[in-house]
Amino acid sequence: MAPFHADEAKTSMQLQPCAACRMLRRRCESKCVLAPYFPTDEVENFALVHRVFGAKNVVKIIQRVEEAKRGDAVKSMVYEAIARVRDPVYGSAGVIYELQKMIEELKAQLDSIKTRISEIREEKERLLSIGNSYDPLSDINVPMFDSAMASDPFEFHVEGGWLYSNISTPS
Ligand SMILES: [Zn+2]
Repeated sequence: MAPFHADEAKTSMQLQPCAACRMLRRRCESKCVLAPYFPTDEVENFALVHRVFGAKNVVKIIQRVEEAKRGDAVKSMVYEAIARVRDPVYGSAGVIYELQKMIEELKAQLDSIKTRISEIREEKERLLSIGNSYDPLSDINVPMFDSAMASDPFEFHVEGGWLYSNISTPS
């Protein structure tokens, strides 16, 4: 069953030109180096790499890479092309910079949350020690001491909401 399926795919590939040859209006030969990576119905990816690198350079880069790694090479060229079109100055370096900035911001947020947690723990210890020293009052039910909040700072809704609303998706 599997070999039959593969043959069928091969036949349809030979009948239709790949996206690159379609765009360049040339005959797509059976040994077309671009055909495996730019199927006929995915014109957009080739349009992008053609615009940024030029078709000749795309072919040169693919030919320079061993066959097993060509798929990855094409993926990274498409990624680089998208980034370069979006940001003509920095390209994918701009994306890396943005992500590094985001990591720094999240590290700072994490540090301040850790500080807040230890402050809350210290405050809890302090309040508990006051509670213990006033033994006659220990029967009085103070809600703060019984709630999950006092023992687990992560249960604070304010902290959680603040953290997640500050993580923005990269645009
Ligand atoms: Zn082709």
